[in-house]
Amino acid sequence: MFRIGIGYDAHRLAKGRPLIIGGLKIPYDLGLLGHSDADVLIHAIIDGLLGALAMGDIGMHFPDNDPAYKDIDSMIMLEKVMELVKREGYIINNLDNTIVAELPKLAPHIKGMKERLSGVLEIRTNQINIKATTTEGMGFCGRGEGISAFSVVSLVKSNNV
Ligand code: MG
Repeated sequence: MFRIGIGYDAHRLAKGRPLIIGGLKIPYDLGLLGHSDADVLIHAIIDGLLGALAMGDIGMHFPDNDPAYKDIDSMIMLEKVMELVKREGYIINNLDNTIVAELPKLAPHIKGMKERLSGVLEIRTNQINIKATTTEGMGFCGRGEGISAFSVVSLVKSNNV
């Protein structure tokens, strides 16, 4: 009746790419590199949802050598995974997320991310938490080489609420 999943993702920062996190375009001179739009937070959420469903990972469902997913809006992938959640008879109870980034400052964008996500995830914004942290200059995130994200999600059977 109750399931938990964890997701983690990381993408490299590169010139000439838009920075898209949590479905929002964030002003910055670098963006995340990937086969899709490289939305690191949404990829972590997708893996959290698939983990809770015991249905593998994002790479199994959206292979990064498939041209169909080239530069795809990760929100579309999230919508497809939400169809699986519903097909299996679950709804999201809550999710908690942490984005690890030295720059840019993400705090001003968190409210917008939560609003964007609540629509696709079909839950209220008070069921979504998004935190942003730095690693105080340590590691690949600290050096500004990339951004990573963690997501923990809980699902409940939809006839249970
Ligand atoms: Mg990814």
